Amino acid sequence: MKKFILTVLFVISMVTISYAEHFKVVGGKFNFDVEKLYLEVCSVLNVTPRDYQYTIILDNSKSRCIPEKKIIYLGIYTKRVLAHEMAHLCIAERFWAEPNEKIAELIAQYAEFEISK
Ligand SMILES: [Zn+2]
Repeated sequence: MKKFILTVLFVISMVTISYAEHFKVVGGKFNFDVEKLYLEVCSVLNVTPRDYQYTIILDNSKSRCIPEKKIIYLGIYTKRVLAHEMAHLCIAERFWAEPNEKIAELIAQYAEFEISK
């Protein structure tokens, strides 16, 4: 019975993940596929995409992400900058041993570099 329930939960989670829209964009539009970029960033960092809904707010402030609130603020609306902030989300949520700020920055820059190749 326990095995059956676990199997059902697994199948439901797979369906949810494959159909989830991860990002809601507020304040503008991107000229590239945000979902695809997220999957690329996850792939570069070797993490499985989370079945979460995130919000990207386009404003003129300094680009940053607030993982606890699942929000990315972007001041520069490029693929490279967004990939960098997405990487910070992945690092904060997915790495079991969260690296310090300098190492997190290096990892985010690595993801940014790989995406823009
Ligand atoms: Zn950064």
